[in-house]
Formats: sequence, structure tokens, C-alpha cells
Amino acid sequence: MGYDGAVSYQVLARSWRPQRFADLIGQEAVVRTLQNAITSGRLGQAYLFSGLRGVGKTTAARLLAKAVNCAEGPTPEPCGTCVSCREITDGVSLDVTEIDAATRTGVNEIRDLQEVVRYRPTRDRYRVVIVDEVHMLSASAFNALLKSIEEPPEYLLWIFATTERHKVPATVLSRCQELEFRPVSTALIAERLLEIAGEEGFELAPEAAAMIARASGGSVRDALSLTDQLRAFSGDTIGPDAVAEVLGVPRRERILALISSIVEGDAGTLLSALREELREGHDPTVLWEALGRELRTLTLTVAGADPSSELDGEAAALAGRLSLDAWTRVLGLWLDHEPVVRTAAHRDLALEVAALRLSRWPTVRRVEALLREAGGTGGAVGGDGSRKTGPAASSAGGGRTASRSAGPAGPAEALADALWNKGLRQAAGAAREATVEIAGGLATLSLPAERAPLARILEQRLDTIREIASELWHVTGVDVVVGSAGTVEDSLADEVARDPGVATALEVLGGNIAAVKPDGNGEASGWN
Ligand SMILES: [Zn+2]
Repeated sequence: MGYDGAVSYQVLARSWRPQRFADLIGQEAVVRTLQNAITSGRLGQAYLFSGLRGVGKTTAARLLAKAVNCAEGPTPEPCGTCVSCREITDGVSLDVTEIDAATRTGVNEIRDLQEVVRYRPTRDRYRVVIVDEVHMLSASAFNALLKSIEEPPEYLLWIFATTERHKVPATVLSRCQELEFRPVSTALIAERLLEIAGEEGFELAPEAAAMIARASGGSVRDALSLTDQLRAFSGDTIGPDAVAEVLGVPRRERILALISSIVEGDAGTLLSALREELREGHDPTVLWEALGRELRTLTLTVAGADPSSELDGEAAALAGRLSLDAWTRVLGLWLDHEPVVRTAAHRDLALEVAALRLSRWPTVRRVEALLREAGGTGGAVGGDGSRKTGPAASSAGGGRTASRSAGPAGPAEALADALWNKGLRQAAGAAREATVEIAGGLATLSLPAERAPLARILEQRLDTIREIASELWHVTGVDVVVGSAGTVEDSLADEVARDPGVATALEVLGGNIAAVKPDGNGEASGWN
């Protein structure tokens, strides 16, 4: 450990290093295990603390050293004031040795260590050896220490810490009790930062604290050193703009606004907001990644799969606007475009096109099909009803269960399932035959003319369908459309023709539509 000497300013990570188990945030399971071991007198002789950097491994190791050697101990919460505790805090205890295997793996150091572990503690109960980044020890160093790890004398306590557990030799792993340190949640880190700001007397906006916490990726130490940087940059008042500037990350509320535009399919708002971010100098790749990170959080939250994610009101409301299927689809589109945005020669343009395609999430598959067909044949895209657009259902009519669990559900399948669950089997069968299009807050259920009776079944259940549709896709209206005019693809073709973004996409992606014939009224609009 270093010494403060004449340096009056201590970095936060050091001045706020937890001195009590109770202050070690986000590691309750580890702390409980260690305290139980002490209280019950079942302390192991070798521990391996694994986990991300800056989450409290070394801090916990020192606390454990104090707990076993405290004048009032062994105790689950060391006093912090006795000679043993103070010496350990100051790094001058003769009975506690701490080495960093990342920097000290030389033959001499290992020989010294072999000496140290041979002797009983000079004053305290235990001789504690803390080896940080233990996976960096050389094979010969491991071999030299192996005997005292495998058969440690009763006074010896090994505490190994590693960020790369998979590199720790099995011979060591098998002798250790392992404790895994979790990344600390964003909310806990932000809370801690605000607490520290209050104590240290500098102003930290809650949103700024949340941004720092997110950027630290679960590492308390990183969060504290980012805060140090920010204090150096903007003095004693740290706001979100300063964080955005120093970290080079866009403000989260803006990312959420972008996602909101994507959810609504509002390409205009999306594009102008993106341009604004780019004008402010944010890197396209950083923007894209921020977008992906938020999409992932929203998706995991809706899936109930991310217990560590804590969404604030705004994000939670946003998450609730799409079903899990829809979020999965948007996230999938993000993933599809990730390499393009990262490697494109014109990353600004690539970002805009990719974002536009995200905003087309309900229809983009059909647009792709459209491009493929049109590009392949150079022929007209029109609605003559000759192409089968509905889901490939095996038969019409209700009472089928065979396809209910088959594969990821499209919108028609999802609607059919929901109807089925409500006992509306006929309607479920009809829904399965329909093509569902979601756009502009409206779900359009299309059936070919020869299926008109099915449309009537759907119309009879329109109230229920509206309820389901609002829940599934957050649309406000439902239309049932009958006719051989291929309404869905026509409206799509129309949409494609009108959308400058998709035109750009065509250019960039090398697509080629020879002609688009929107409907049967003779009006033709072509673009190449
Ligand atoms: Zn003590």
C-alpha cells in the first residue's frame, strides 16, 4: 500500500474504502457467508474471491483479516480502532501480508512469502496472506506455495482474489472456498455516490450519479475514479451535461427518447434527434452501443430476466409499451446492424439507416422480402393477391392445437394464442389465417377475399381483439380488412415508396426496386 504523506487530497476510492462489512455495498451474500463462518467458528483456511475489478474483493479481504485479528475478535464486525485493525487499515501489520501477483511475481518475492508463511503470527491470531490477481502467479510460484496452500498450518489464512477465475490452477481452486463477488447494481452505486457527495460537500445531480454508475459497469472503484475525474473537470457541481462530455456518452433520456421514436415508428423525430446527437459530436458507434444497451435492459426487464436492472419511471413506462416479442425483434434488428454501424465507411449514414430500420420493426421483414423479390426479378410489386401472405397454417377452422407451441410466434400467432386462451377458438383459428400489420398505433388484420367468413368471425370479437392488441402491441385501434387487393403489401409498398430513409437504405444496401404499383386505381409510382 502507498502512504499519503504530504498529499492532502485523497482520491475517493481510497478515502471511501469501506471500513466495515456493513459498508461493503452490493455483496450481501459474500458478507453473510464470511460473517457466519466467523461466528460459527467454521472459518476456512483458504478463500478465493472472484469477480469484476473494483467490486470489493480486496476490501473484503482486509476486512476479513481485521475480523479474525481484531482485539475484540474473532468478530463478524471488526472494531476498526484496536491496534490490529488500525495497522491492517494502514497496511503496516506484520501479520497481514498483501501481495499483488500482477506486479510482484519474482523469485525473491515468492521466497519471502515462503518464509512468511512458515512462522506463527507475531502478535495476532492469524497470519493472513492476501494475494491479489492470483491468476497472474507463475507456475513455479504456485508450485513453491502449493504445500502451504494444500496443508496450511492452523494459524495461516490465505485469501486469494482474482478477476479471472478461469486462469486459476485447479490445484488451487480445489483447496479454496470460493466466493463470487457480483457486479454492483447501478442503483446502489448511484446511491453511494450521492451519499459520498453529501459527505464531501460537492454537488452531484442524481441523473449525473446514475450516468456515472451506468458507465462504471458495476465497479464501485471505477465509479469513484470517474467521479474524481469529473470533479477535476467541472469543480464542485457535477451535472449530467458534464458527465456526458467527460464520458463521451449521450444522455440517457435522449437514448430513451430515440427508443420511444423507434417504438412509435416515428422516423422523422428519430432522424432529427439522431442528427442532433451527431452534431453534438457523439460518436456513431457510441450512440449505437448506448442504444443497444438500453434496448437490452428494456427487453430483459420485460422478460423478467434481469433482476439487477432497476428502471426508473420513464424507462419502465417505455418497457411496458411493447411485448416481449416486439422488444426481442427490435433488439434482434439492432444486433443485425451492429457490425454494419461499427465498420461502415460512413458511420453516420450507416447509423441513420440502421436506426430507420429499427423504427420499421413491425414491418421490416416484409420490406426485406419485398426488396428481395423486387430486386430478384426486377418485376412489379403489386397486389394481385397471387402471393400467399398469411401464415402458413395447415388448415382453416378452429379447434387446432398442433401449431400452438411451434416456434417463435408472429403477431397473428400471438393474437391467435391469446384468443385461444380466452376460449374463443373460432376466432383464434381465424386470426391464425390473417396477416397482421402494426403501424401508426393501428393493427390491421387482413384476410383474402375467399376468407371473408373468417373476417366476420374476427369482427364479432373485435372488442376482445382490440383489448388483446392493445396489450400485445400497444395499438389503439384494430381494423379487419378483406379483399384480394393485397392490402398489406400495397400499403407497405406505398410506405416504402414514400420513405426517404428506406430509399437511402436501398442505396446503401444495394437493393433495387424496379417499380411499385400501389393499388388497382391505375396510379403508378416507380423509383429505381
Ligand atoms: Zn479491532
